[in-house]
Amino acid sequence: MAKGEAEKERERENLDAPALDRAVICAACRHPITTPDQRLEIEGAHTHRLTNPSGLTFTLRCFAEAPGLRPLGPRESFFTWFAGHTWQLVLCGRCDAHLGWRFEGASVFHGLITDRIAE
Ligand SMILES: [Zn+2]
Repeated sequence: MAKGEAEKERERENLDAPALDRAVICAACRHPITTPDQRLEIEGAHTHRLTNPSGLTFTLRCFAEAPGLRPLGPRESFFTWFAGHTWQLVLCGRCDAHLGWRFEGASVFHGLITDRIAE
């Protein structure tokens, strides 16, 4: 019984550990943006390759919470990449690098540009 309790405690520590010592960071300044456990699949995929009306193509990875970001400007609904979601620019909370977009609709998530973040 006591052994079982100890194992449970250890499992809990292992589950918590990745969130504490692994982070998804801004590639420019290494500011912590989110953690790998916030990864999401949106429309069946974690990674999306998308092109905006200006012809620029971005590869985005989707995350739920991303407390290291700072939103910029209004929420826009024109030309959204994800149906039923508004989008808003998000910057690194420390160095202001443009890291991606926050999408709000039936769900709220963040699409981060793969080559502007690091793990
Ligand atoms: Zn930064």
